[in-house]
Amino acid sequence: MTVRVRFAPSPTGYLHVGSARTALFNWLYARATGGTMLLRIEDTDASRNQPDLVTNILDALTWLGITWDEGPQFQSAHADRHRGVVEGLLASGHAYHDDGAVRLRVPEDGVTGWDDVVRGRIEFENAHVEDFVIRRSDGSPTFLLANAVDDVDAGITHVIRGEDMINNMPKQLLLLEALGARGDVVYAHLPLLVDEQRRKLSKRFGDVAVERYRERGIVAPAMANYLALLGWSPGDDVEIRPMAEIVERFRLEDVHASSAFFDVRKLTHVNATHLRALGPDAFRSAVAPFCSHPLDGLPDDYVRALQERTQTLCDVEPLVAWLFAEEPVVDPDAWARAVAGGPHAEALLAGAIAAYADAPWESAELHRRLAELGEAVGLKLGKAQAPIRVAVTGTTVGPPLFESLEVLGRERTLARLRAARARL
Ligand code: GLU
Repeated sequence: MTVRVRFAPSPTGYLHVGSARTALFNWLYARATGGTMLLRIEDTDASRNQPDLVTNILDALTWLGITWDEGPQFQSAHADRHRGVVEGLLASGHAYHDDGAVRLRVPEDGVTGWDDVVRGRIEFENAHVEDFVIRRSDGSPTFLLANAVDDVDAGITHVIRGEDMINNMPKQLLLLEALGARGDVVYAHLPLLVDEQRRKLSKRFGDVAVERYRERGIVAPAMANYLALLGWSPGDDVEIRPMAEIVERFRLEDVHASSAFFDVRKLTHVNATHLRALGPDAFRSAVAPFCSHPLDGLPDDYVRALQERTQTLCDVEPLVAWLFAEEPVVDPDAWARAVAGGPHAEALLAGAIAAYADAPWESAELHRRLAELGEAVGLKLGKAQAPIRVAVTGTTVGPPLFESLEVLGRERTLARLRAARARL
């Protein structure tokens, strides 16, 4: 049997991280089994039936590397078919008119259940399921009907979706039974995403749209890697790995039922790890949209040093701003601590101006000369470099100092040291 899965977002204008996780698990399952993935836009709610609400969803999926083999289909295009199904159910006596709408007749006793891949056997007593609306009084078929009928028509073999759909399951299964179309579809309801207080992830939590994380400097392989861990574990201790390996290891049976904490700190850590694995050129291109100055002119070693200090792509701009600015923006606290109030700052600045005037301009030599100046006044290198760093970069933290001086160049370094000394 060839696996056929689908991702069926409603057009909301953005891709919720929970929906992205659902899309990803469908994609992983399709890729792991050589199956087919269908994308279906569930746009039967006329108020939301606007093409631009779909664009962002498709963009976000594409960014994540989630590709589909069929579609996008638009559910609204199946309206005739949905109407026909309702007529058929009326004709067979499975449905009846009630006050302008049409309801499905639910048996009074018995149970409706299924074996969920994630949660095991789930059963609902039919006595607790009301006769439910399948066509509204305005003639439009309900979501329950359209969603279930479209899955049958598309030959979907595995329905993988969020657990918020579990409560709709008895109705959908009863509907499929009435149509003689229940078949042997496999259902897997993925665990809820929750915040730190274990509440359902909502806008109250912060960013729930995938595109916000993209804007905040998360890279797609990291986002997809992190989403894969929300409800699934690889079975070894390696959580951070390329998507090709995740595809190899992914098994629907390994999805667990307990809710998954969407942890932005962990996402950031996963991101930093993926960023460090990039080659310097890949890192330069990833950073480009996030930084007003291209890193193209910087040597690979220096780019690597930046990479080591980067958690998200947004971190890079402040790391290099001093380098591209006419003059560094001096942090007053850093100035007070390391220069105005720092030990031997004046002697160190004066010494560095003299020692660097004729030094071969490479980091090891700049390092050696400053270490000597420090020794002369009884300071370890860490303390001796503080006023130099503040004079040149404006702050006490940043990329490795001597490599930074090398990149900045002799003239600009000396000018900044002189300006700081004059300001003292
Ligand atoms: N359009 C529904 C949603 O976005 C799809 C649910 C399903 O996957 O069946 O929640």
